[in-house]
Amino acid sequence: MFTRTGLFFEIMKVIKTKREIRQAVQKLRADGRKTALVPTMGALHEGHVSLIKIAKELTDDVIVSIFVNPTQFAPGEDFEKYPRPIEQDIELCRNEGVSVVFTPSREEMYRGTSYISFDVKELGSHLCGRSRPGHFNGVLQIVNKLFNNVPADVAVFGQKDIQQFRILETMADEFDHDIEIVMSETIRAEDGLALSSRNRYLSPEERQKAPMLNEALLSITQKAASDATPTAIVTEQSQKLESNGLKVDYLQIVDYNTLQPVQSLQNGKKYIAAGAIYLGNTRLIDNRIFQI
Ligand code: AMP
Repeated sequence: MFTRTGLFFEIMKVIKTKREIRQAVQKLRADGRKTALVPTMGALHEGHVSLIKIAKELTDDVIVSIFVNPTQFAPGEDFEKYPRPIEQDIELCRNEGVSVVFTPSREEMYRGTSYISFDVKELGSHLCGRSRPGHFNGVLQIVNKLFNNVPADVAVFGQKDIQQFRILETMADEFDHDIEIVMSETIRAEDGLALSSRNRYLSPEERQKAPMLNEALLSITQKAASDATPTAIVTEQSQKLESNGLKVDYLQIVDYNTLQPVQSLQNGKKYIAAGAIYLGNTRLIDNRIFQI
């Protein structure tokens, strides 16, 4: 295909069925192309763009899936009001040089009653897993389907959702998914707030307070090398957040591998300082990986 200026470009495909996406990716691979999957729920921002860019660096063709997955939302969460600017998202993918956008309907991904479910064990017992029971079972259900229907070489996920990343990495390993799982660092606004599709729910006043979560996490990583215990360090920061009007869902230091809270810190081991806060009805999460 040639543009009016004579430059070559390829037309991005928008695919809605599992059968077509599977065939398209199989064809790309048969043609010797390396492929990457970037799963998203849409309302794409610079964080998603960074995942696409990493995927493009690593492979020849990037497939972005856009699907607001109902099974990872509990009743009363924001499934219904989750933003769905699909035309804008497709345009962004086109501008970023994505090869295929996969936008299945709910009926395409879930046909009737499910008789089998996932059960995330220890990796889901703290952090978001504790506050959102069943959430990660839903995440595994959809990503397992995506891995089966989009047989890419690589899948890119953000550090922003670190517990999700660790659980998916473990699923790929334990379930023998033939796909390389890559982590992409968290993209932030200038004031440090991690970008999120949910930031658009914030009022101007809430938006002003939102970077305090990142500030608390940074303080935790800085204080980790002191003599204070992990509990004392996070309690201090939690109280500071609460006194500024942020409702702390959790703020913890956990072991990077097990995601279990720790009572003491050892040199050379990897930890995650992770937090979730409510600003009004909006729940925001963030984390920092660190060592002492
Ligand atoms: P979501 O659309 O929120 O389900 O996110 C899709 C992917 O984008 C996940 O792998 C997220 O971890 C990643 N992501 C979301 N926000 C950011 C961010 N600020 N920086 C980097 N990756 C992100």
